[in-house]
Amino acid sequence: MHLDVWGARGSHPASGMAFSQFGHHTACLSVRSGDHLLVLDAGTGAAALARALEASPPRAVDILLSHFHHDHVMGLPYLLMSLPRDTALRIHAAPEGSPGLEALVAAILSPPYFPAGIAGILGRTACREHRAGAAFEAGGLEVCTHPLEHPGGSTAFRVSDGARSFVYATDLEQPEQPDAAWIAFARGADLLVHDTMFTEMEWETRRGWGHATIEGALQLADAAGVLRLVGFHHNPVHDDELMVLRERELVRRRPGSGLAREGESLSV
Ligand SMILES: [Zn+2]
Ligand SMILES: [Zn+2]
Repeated sequence: MHLDVWGARGSHPASGMAFSQFGHHTACLSVRSGDHLLVLDAGTGAAALARALEASPPRAVDILLSHFHHDHVMGLPYLLMSLPRDTALRIHAAPEGSPGLEALVAAILSPPYFPAGIAGILGRTACREHRAGAAFEAGGLEVCTHPLEHPGGSTAFRVSDGARSFVYATDLEQPEQPDAAWIAFARGADLLVHDTMFTEMEWETRRGWGHATIEGALQLADAAGVLRLVGFHHNPVHDDELMVLRERELVRRRPGSGLAREGESLSV
């Protein structure tokens, strides 16, 4: 499997040359396998993904949404709009305490959040609401889910093709120590993409904001024995200079790790 990175920022996009090494767009990753495309989150990076698909659109798309904060759904209308009418579309999420998945997706695709005219897409999109902790199949891939502590809730996904697997865990308040269920969920994954938004100093004043540090990501990666750790949900005020320093520290602690770069393809 190859996990393509279309956006790795969190909260909001980062504009300007000082942010070009790790990229500007917010959360969006994808796995292409023939005519099937799996998408993880649809932040502004999903608009870049939509353009990349124009030459060879998939016939079926499964979109996994961790939650509905703007930085994870803002590109959704652009992605859906770009796909041919006969594309099989499925959106999977576990919205917490909300009007339901279909109502949330309908709101994103409709005025006043988006111009009229694409609401018809909803009629040909299957909204598959699941309970956090459920498992399901998507285009031949096995998807397991795990609830995360985050304001309003978030969901981690573990995706396996039967031989290899990766875990996508973003927007989570890092625990003091990862518990047994969380370690078991990530156990032995070939790749862990984990929220590393805050420096240790930022973390001290931002507890409860629902994010993690490199230290928190390392704790889970080591406890679960994952092969490779990649930091994600980059703070939009962290410029390349700081990002390079943080990545150097991560690699020193765990060789082979890195911070996700927009435009790269991570092999799993
Ligand atoms: Zn976020
Ligand atoms: Zn969030």
